[in-house]
Amino acid sequence: MGSAVSRFAPSTTGPAHPGTLLAALLCWLDARTLGATLRLRLEDLDPERSRLEWREAMVRDLAWLGLDFDAVDLQTEAREAHESALDRLAELGRLYPCRCTRSALRERGLPTAEGGIRYPGTCRSRPLSDGGWRETREPLRVALPTDPLPLRDEGGEPLDPDPGAAMGDPIVRRRDGSVAYQLAGVVDDARTGVTRIVRGRDLASSTAAQVALQRLLDLPQPDYRHHLLLLEERGEKLAKLHGAVDAASLRQHYDAEALCGVLSQAAGLRERPNPVLPAALLDGFDWERVTRRDRVMRWTGERLVLVD
Ligand code: GLU
Repeated sequence: MGSAVSRFAPSTTGPAHPGTLLAALLCWLDARTLGATLRLRLEDLDPERSRLEWREAMVRDLAWLGLDFDAVDLQTEAREAHESALDRLAELGRLYPCRCTRSALRERGLPTAEGGIRYPGTCRSRPLSDGGWRETREPLRVALPTDPLPLRDEGGEPLDPDPGAAMGDPIVRRRDGSVAYQLAGVVDDARTGVTRIVRGRDLASSTAAQVALQRLLDLPQPDYRHHLLLLEERGEKLAKLHGAVDAASLRQHYDAEALCGVLSQAAGLRERPNPVLPAALLDGFDWERVTRRDRVMRWTGERLVLVD
């Protein structure tokens, strides 16, 4: 496994949350245990929501927790590679402009398990304009093949075998001209030699679409592992532990060892939330010891408490 390349790929559209830090910790423990190269990819393509200050804060907060990376990649630096992939998808006749409004999608799309909408393929037969995708003002989608894929998650997480089933044909270029998550991620994983993807199970529903894109573009398929999420109670429902507390507030109440202790207890790596540095968790790290079920936590305003 010495030649494995892994990556942690947070979006820089907001601050890190406890779930971001847990995902980073697990990705780091996995890579360092295997002797893999670990890259930090800052997903900064969203021109409206991504900000330099979030990018800098992410790098600072991960370093504060005691996590190091062997390389840092910015998605905005890979414009050419993303555009070549769009060229290739256009050559393959897979790109189409979508004019569906949000309300049309809400009416016609099927709800997904994650609370999103599965695109029903309404615009699939619309051609690109004569000038090609660069001249198209509308968002572009990719027509994914619908053959079921033989997919395996290393930890046995269910992955939808049908690439379109979870979300339908994904948008690959948005109305504002930016390249969208599914395509950019796939291109960047290949470009940076990623062979191993460790991430939260909220992204498991993207895996089939991403593997379908890898096949269309003739890119290698990494190994996948999806792990538990941290949730919070929101009314009757559970939601990702996001709104409640960000890294800056956590840092006012915890030092790195104390927070790492809390996260490692939530992940099932330790029985008690005693302070510990990430490096001290390497000894004996094994995915068999990591809790599979999502954990519910509450932010009291001062402390993160494990509720379930
Ligand atoms: N940027 C994505 C997120 O923060 C994750 C991308 C990935 O790991 O594939 O949810």
